[in-house]
Amino acid sequence: MKFKKTLGLEVHAQINTKTKLFSRALVDDEANANTCVDFLDAGFPGALPVVNEQAIHLALRTALALNMEINDVSIFDRKHYFYQDLPLGYQITQFYKPIGVNGYIECSFGKIRINRLHIECDAGKSIYKEGRTYIDLNRSGVPLMEIVTEPDFHHEDEVIEYMKELRAILLAVKTCKCDMEKGNLRADVNISVSATNELGTRAEIKNLNSFSAIRKAIQYEANFQIETLKSGGVVQQETKLFDSNENVTQAIRDKADAHEYLYFPDPDLLPVKLDKEFIQQVKENLPKLPKEMREDLQSYGIQIEQSYVLTETLERFEFFEQLTNDFNNDLKLKTSNWISSELLGKLAKLDIELEDLLRRNRHFVDNFKEIIKLCETEEVTRVIAKLMIDEIIIHDKNFNELFANSELLKKIDIDLDLLIISILDKSPDEIEKFKKGKVQIVMYFVGLVMKETKGKCSADLAKEKIIEELEKRK
Ligand code: MN
Repeated sequence: MKFKKTLGLEVHAQINTKTKLFSRALVDDEANANTCVDFLDAGFPGALPVVNEQAIHLALRTALALNMEINDVSIFDRKHYFYQDLPLGYQITQFYKPIGVNGYIECSFGKIRINRLHIECDAGKSIYKEGRTYIDLNRSGVPLMEIVTEPDFHHEDEVIEYMKELRAILLAVKTCKCDMEKGNLRADVNISVSATNELGTRAEIKNLNSFSAIRKAIQYEANFQIETLKSGGVVQQETKLFDSNENVTQAIRDKADAHEYLYFPDPDLLPVKLDKEFIQQVKENLPKLPKEMREDLQSYGIQIEQSYVLTETLERFEFFEQLTNDFNNDLKLKTSNWISSELLGKLAKLDIELEDLLRRNRHFVDNFKEIIKLCETEEVTRVIAKLMIDEIIIHDKNFNELFANSELLKKIDIDLDLLIISILDKSPDEIEKFKKGKVQIVMYFVGLVMKETKGKCSADLAKEKIIEELEKRK
């Protein structure tokens, strides 16, 4: 029997505001526990909510960027449930009339329909330590957007692509910081499997906060459901959590039906009215979105895959633009290759984010630009250019410093061994000849080293090292 997966997503994205959705308390991920709490956030009787206009504005921008229809009147409702970190006893959300409906994101495999975007408050945080439960209310009342798709996905790769595109859009419109580790952006995945055309019973996996957790949780849960059905069992409608240490999903509770939350409009809050001109104005002022950024890049001749890589975050795209603002298309294309094949690979190996590097090393853009220019005008070889990039990234060296103090030339001696190894690795035929007694091949390798270093290293030293390395391979 062949089973088909069907997946839908509910993403919670923290709205990028200074203060909470209905109180004056600050939103601060770094603050000490319970220092960003106003009366309302702690559920004090009589504390009244005052809506944060900025949060509404940013949610509106997001909904428009997601091609949504805007409800010019949206309403806040109370969603009741009991939990230790929800002091009010209800969450303020938009159930009956969300701010945005019927949007979509265009993905490479097709359109993903977005059913709704609503605004709501986050709950507090429970911290379980040494048999006790501690409550931190700093998150209580933090504004969130919940972005809900239709069940339009059939593979985890599609879910990841959608998440990346959603993140790129949120970063482009600057409405969410999207730091997944900090929980700024987290996904609940609905998943069911079926061997027929009818949908199976779905489980919901909550609070996945990394791409790899999303992927692994889907794979595990789909397998679990398929195995359950194959052995004649029944899939339960459940809410689950993913344990990233064990790579398994575990049920936490039965999924509640909507009526159990006793939704009703919050009597302390007026409906949110947005006038048509204002909506139109926000729409016209939307910044360039990832799709348009990619079109720009493709117009320079950059491949589609690379255009995705360069637009994963706004900072990455801006880095490229800054780097290449006075380059012709040919050089832009070459720069795109430098970024995706050399720079990002190098950073991934070192576990450094490009964004962090740019923040730390203010000269990086200028330096990187100089190196690309030198390399592409063949004033230095690719090998040396790569060494220079290493120096700049790892040791925060400045380009001029590298060049003027001939640090680089010393560096060539140090890395001569590496250069020789990489040349030899690419020449198995020549090495065979050497093994068979053709010693003149040494001079061929010396020639290659001199070429790669633009003659900036000692030929005798190179020869010595090449023989040493060749002997090792005998
Ligand atoms: Mn929610």
